[in-house]
Amino acid sequence: MAKWERRDVVVRTTATGHELTAPVFTAQGRQERPIAYVQANVHGGELQGNAAILGLFDLLESAPLRGTIVLVPRVNPISANQQVGDYVAGVYDLLTGVNFNRGYLYLTGPSRSASAACYVDVDSFAAAHLSAPIGEIRSGFREALKAALAAIEEEAAAWGADSRLDFALSIQKMAVDADLVLDLHTGDRAPRYLYAPEGAVAAARAFGLPFVLEVPARFGGALDEASFVPWQDLSDAFRRLGRDDVPRLVDGFTVELGSMNEFSLEAGREDARRIASALRYYGVLDGEPDAPLGPITACSAADYRSLHAPVGGLVDLAVRPGTRVKAGDVVARLADPSRCRSLPPRAGDAVFEVRAPEDGVALLFHAFSSVPKGARLFSMMTKTRPL
Ligand SMILES: [Zn+2]
Repeated sequence: MAKWERRDVVVRTTATGHELTAPVFTAQGRQERPIAYVQANVHGGELQGNAAILGLFDLLESAPLRGTIVLVPRVNPISANQQVGDYVAGVYDLLTGVNFNRGYLYLTGPSRSASAACYVDVDSFAAAHLSAPIGEIRSGFREALKAALAAIEEEAAAWGADSRLDFALSIQKMAVDADLVLDLHTGDRAPRYLYAPEGAVAAARAFGLPFVLEVPARFGGALDEASFVPWQDLSDAFRRLGRDDVPRLVDGFTVELGSMNEFSLEAGREDARRIASALRYYGVLDGEPDAPLGPITACSAADYRSLHAPVGGLVDLAVRPGTRVKAGDVVARLADPSRCRSLPPRAGDAVFEVRAPEDGVALLFHAFSSVPKGARLFSMMTKTRPL
């Protein structure tokens, strides 16, 4: 039987003195490691990850837990409560204007605000551990990353940590311990898909999601990158010194569970089964991962391209999100009645057809059906291949 604990972590304190907290559920199995850290709903309108975590609660009652799993549903009460009428304006922090998933700290390179003392120099670390066994490298580097977080916090103490730093630290202090980090999001209007570190093919297959975007090891401020890029940097540093048996020892994924605002407990049980398959791949649960249910289409995140609306209008989807299209196929129609200049007015004059610029998969559409010119209308996987 797994041993469970619950605590609540403060992610913001409001002007009225209220602490906004997220519940953190930890289950430890037979041994401490590997540790998986799973959070959901950092973007307040992206709800399905909470259903997946509820599914994991039930699944873990009977699943053989070998390592430790940390589950943080509703990780961002700030964002979840940025509610305007029915709508949750959840991607950007209304206090800072910053995307909640772009403010994390790079622990092996220069980040905003932090001095050189606040990140780990991978080349010196690798040189100092050139003949160390893997286990020692893993634990030593993790301690170094934790020390970097502590140094950032300490450096900020004198003048105060800004809200964005406060938020990043509260999450990264939990995630830095993990061997596997899963950040559960949703698309706007999208099927299920996965952002996976480049090269993590077997792991990506273990999730079994139909679409995979492969993320290069370059830091852009998201949690998956903040989790795996430092470990890729370390692996690269060892390779530069002629040692090539140090793989990337931590992986981070962004798991996109359908469309924003959708929430289904039943679908959450299936999402939990897919996540459990990945947890078996990483040895957090005992057993073998499931085989993928169907074909998986992949492309580099660099070949995941957004089409910006060439005109404004009301969006009529010509294909469902996740549909394979050829260059020139109509993907969406933008209707604007003000384009009807001749009388009697004809509906056809209002409609502008938007076609796919390249072959690929029309994966994600704008969440809402009224867009200005220049808004991201849809995003396409291009240069796709089977995974
Ligand atoms: Zn998101």
